[in-house]
Amino acid sequence: MEIAIIAHDGKKAEMVQFLNEHKAFFHQDHITLVSTGTTGNKVEAAGFKVKKLLSGPLGGDAQIAGRVAEELCEMVLFFRDPLAKHPHEPDVLMLMRLCDVHDVPLATNPATALLLINGLSYLK
Ligand code: PGA
Repeated sequence: MEIAIIAHDGKKAEMVQFLNEHKAFFHQDHITLVSTGTTGNKVEAAGFKVKKLLSGPLGGDAQIAGRVAEELCEMVLFFRDPLAKHPHEPDVLMLMRLCDVHDVPLATNPATALLLINGLSYLK
């Protein structure tokens, strides 16, 4: 199962903390991680294997949106910073829209991300 992890700059530390708190979940063999560029560097530095795409502002969110549209990516954990402005807001909206089009679970904050990964563990 492919899970996308994206974090805006103001939320990257929280994202790394989240991954570290749920290492057992994210290290499972059937879970593959994909990230936007800078987020991916942090994910990798935290010791997780991840496929890194372009940085968000350069099209990384759009690439993840494409993977959602092609049904390659089955869950999106997006640590959004609601207090900052983002030049690539249109791409972010596109990603969220395509998650809804394809009925792909999307978390936009850590509390929801926790519910989603717990929900998956419960479904197994
Ligand atoms: P980044 O992009 O991981 O390259 O910082 C994330 C984003 O801003 O959408």
